[in-house]
Amino acid sequence: MNLEDHLGDVLHKGRLHAGVAPETVAAAAGLSSAELAAVEASGNPPRPMDYRALGALLGLAPNKLQGLAAGWQPAPVDLGRWRELRLLTSVGGGMGVNCYLLWDEVTREAALFDTGFDAAPILELIAAEHLDLRYLFITHGHHDHIAALPELKQRHPKARLRSNSRSAPPDQRNRPNDCISLGSLRITNRDTPGHAEDGVTYIVGTWPDDAPHVAIVGDALFAGSMGRAVGAAALARQKIRDQILSLPAPTLLCPGHGPLTTVAEEQANNPFC
Ligand SMILES: [Zn+2]
Repeated sequence: MNLEDHLGDVLHKGRLHAGVAPETVAAAAGLSSAELAAVEASGNPPRPMDYRALGALLGLAPNKLQGLAAGWQPAPVDLGRWRELRLLTSVGGGMGVNCYLLWDEVTREAALFDTGFDAAPILELIAAEHLDLRYLFITHGHHDHIAALPELKQRHPKARLRSNSRSAPPDQRNRPNDCISLGSLRITNRDTPGHAEDGVTYIVGTWPDDAPHVAIVGDALFAGSMGRAVGAAALARQKIRDQILSLPAPTLLCPGHGPLTTVAEEQANNPFC
């Protein structure tokens, strides 16, 4: 899976977050305004840019910008290590979005994290694996993440809904100290607002064979980037630091868009971190 954000997307997001004019960014990079616009669109600089000046201007780590420019990708993850965890990607309006289904392999109790656009492959997997869908966890209320929710609720009316949405009834809202059991798995939550006011990260632990924790982060963080958080970038970055990157280094990070990554990968390579 390609990165959700290439170098140009990261620079574009960085300047929107920092509230800096494109001409100022172009000057720092050592490019013309037209060249910067082309880099933001393609991700490919026409020549080496001044990453140190860019980083200082936008609050991004220069060496990690350079890493992105050099083609960094997170190491591929073998999901077979987690029993059981599946990534399902659906497409709507030309945009791909990830959702995640996980279950206890003994009890077959399952939880879905976001729905994406298409209920069909999720329903097929639930049926094929003889799963008992207990929970629908929502990372935030943006349309691409909940588009298939009505159909899933209709097909699995007993599945309990959980989100940070203020408009949700109290019994469907996450509480800070929730620890939900799904067979032998344990699911907790941490508030990660910024990209969305109701943004929340779910952490799943106690996997068989000591597989690392799994954090389903929604759009708080992408491999090598973060969700757009214009007007709330400082809050978003603080939550990434305090609530996500404080998890153990091998923790698997499951973003709403783009490839899987880990805490260690993002600490070493994400320009926003
Ligand atoms: Zn979103």
